[in-house]
Amino acid sequence: MELTAPIQDDPHAIVEMASLLADAHADTPVGAFFKVLSEDDSGNCPVCYSALPELNDGGAQNVRPSTSPFCTQGCRELAVCMCIMLDGALQSKAHEVIMLHLRDTLAQKALNIMQKIADKSSQHQRPLRRLLINLATACNQLPQSLFLKGVRLLTGSGDRLVAGGFSDVHRGRYNHQDVALKVLRIFSNTDEATRNDLKQKLQYEALLWRNLSHRHVLPFFGIDNHIFHRSPCMVSPYMRNGNVRHKAEGLIKRGYSPDDLYYLHYLFKWMHEIAQGLAYLHREGIVHGDLRGPNILVDDNRSIRLADFGLSVLSEAQSRENNSARGGNERWMAPEQLNPELFGTTSNRPTTASDVFSVGCVCIEMIW
Ligand SMILES: [Zn+2]
Repeated sequence: MELTAPIQDDPHAIVEMASLLADAHADTPVGAFFKVLSEDDSGNCPVCYSALPELNDGGAQNVRPSTSPFCTQGCRELAVCMCIMLDGALQSKAHEVIMLHLRDTLAQKALNIMQKIADKSSQHQRPLRRLLINLATACNQLPQSLFLKGVRLLTGSGDRLVAGGFSDVHRGRYNHQDVALKVLRIFSNTDEATRNDLKQKLQYEALLWRNLSHRHVLPFFGIDNHIFHRSPCMVSPYMRNGNVRHKAEGLIKRGYSPDDLYYLHYLFKWMHEIAQGLAYLHREGIVHGDLRGPNILVDDNRSIRLADFGLSVLSEAQSRENNSARGGNERWMAPEQLNPELFGTTSNRPTTASDVFSVGCVCIEMIW
């Protein structure tokens, strides 16, 4: 690190100093966070998410002068400050409280930065994700990288796929592939409070889902805000094979009995893959909360993809919904969720143990 001028009473100089420190200490959390941001090559400023002009190739005007991914010096300075703030928030509850008080533009920029770091860095993933979700919930905003452009709705017969409790699923196209669009069922007469509550649930689900990546978990592309005028929709790959229960019933209809080796091969493979997907979620500190046949999809390789995180919760978080009606299907629910008092607890919140109970029900579901 080389200093070319004395540090004077100038906030920009302090930020410059901090960014030099961040550069020089890439092996510290602050440095590692800043390194992720300064190496971003997405074409959008990692702080304000504005599209960056093409790099200056020597001749053209109005183009970015350097390879920096930050659109302005101001965004670069804010990135340094946010990295320091984020490091503090991950280490101390008092600093976390300060971070959770960010609102509006600053909160938006903090969310953009945190999502970028969560996407690229394997360090501090669990606490970072928890902080990201808590800030998004507190300020009712989402990182801008979650919003997609260029999603289309298909409107042919059969393109409206299934209807869940609070949502409908339609077929669409995005990036040259078929996608499923999950949209909240909001009617013109739905009151404002219910509407906001549903939208907050969708935001929470989107953020949780976006930060998952496993071969047996359905990937999440992002959110479209344009197709349906009453509600944003969540975009994920379309699974033409449907869910595991349909697939098991399909084998029976084709003449296989549950005793056939062919049937058993798929049954054991799927049970194993469901367990692998669930073990991943639990390792990541997430309780699925609604595991049942319709939420367990089969991809083009006939492998399991766990889906529908609408009732999922962070296992470390405090219960927000003690004894309230949580939704979910009672047929797959663990006894302690159905009748907490009988088991000496006061909460019907799903746990890793209740997820495992639901997997047992799914195994029975596939055999019958
Ligand atoms: Zn910017």
